[in-house]
Amino acid sequence: MSPEEEEALLSEEDALSARPVQIVLAHEDDHAFELDEAALERILLQEHVRDLNVVVVSVAGAFRKGKSFLLDFMLRFMYNQTSCSWLGGHEEPLTGFTWRGGCERETTGILAWSDVFVVDKPDGSKVAVLLIDTQGAFDSQSTIKDCATLFALSTMTSSVQLFTEYGRLALEEIYEKPFQTLMFLIRDWSYPYEHPYGLEGGKSFLEKRLQVKQNQHEELQNVRKHIHSCFSNIGCFLLPHPGLKVATNPNFDGRLTDIDDDFKTELVNLVPILLSPKNLVEKEIGGAKVTCRDLVQYFKAYMKIYQG
Ligand code: GDP
Ligand code: MG
Repeated sequence: MSPEEEEALLSEEDALSARPVQIVLAHEDDHAFELDEAALERILLQEHVRDLNVVVVSVAGAFRKGKSFLLDFMLRFMYNQTSCSWLGGHEEPLTGFTWRGGCERETTGILAWSDVFVVDKPDGSKVAVLLIDTQGAFDSQSTIKDCATLFALSTMTSSVQLFTEYGRLALEEIYEKPFQTLMFLIRDWSYPYEHPYGLEGGKSFLEKRLQVKQNQHEELQNVRKHIHSCFSNIGCFLLPHPGLKVATNPNFDGRLTDIDDDFKTELVNLVPILLSPKNLVEKEIGGAKVTCRDLVQYFKAYMKIYQG
């Protein structure tokens, strides 16, 4: 077996054993957060990644906003970086965060993909890419504070955060914490004639939504003003509706044939914007890049702050 073949086989094995791991658990009854330090360390202190600068891409949002669905396509991209057909086969069920043996119950918290990807950037540096799923519940059971805490935690530890929402942009639900890149992902966008799908349409839509108007409630005005001072890079992407099979068929297993073409076209644009080597944003804290090993310490420190 050639070294390349061996490597391919190994990464396939990795992919099979790879899974979402809950690193932060929210206990809804007593509003407490718990960091699974051992799980976090198993992921981030693996010898081949621990000293690399880390890129943390987090998808955040409420339940049932298509986070896992999107993350699974992000995984396909990461596992098939070099292939132009990374989107996958037509009849291939989608696996990863969603449909692997019910690993992911509807729990509030932060899940990390157990495989940390090593990527060569065009400048010759190697970075470690960690994918994260942050699920909050904007419902009566969890208080606004819990939700804010969870998103703040994932914000503080991420370099890129995607915030998913269907057909709207609820700035009322954004909390002020320093970010690097924040990308709003608007799903089921149904006004492409006003703002076209994709990054450009998202930009014009976002500009419109971020405008501060005289007759707005003061709090809303403040959110709009602060958002620019908190994030060094804010974007918005408008995704079309994926089709009725995706949205309503209980037997939908993620296969491409069941997904609308418009959606797939935009997905193929979106994922490389987030994950192609030249676009990967290394996590920085206080202006310094952070390694996987550092990130473990930051997680522990931030948990202490939020528990206090
Ligand atoms: P999560 O709870 O945020 O992880 O959401 P899931 O990825 O599990 O998706 C929840 C449901 O929404 C599933 O039935 C998906 O098939 C469906 N879904 C995924 N993406 C979209 C989307 O862009 N629009 C709509 N309407 N449904 C979606
Ligand atoms: Mg999910």
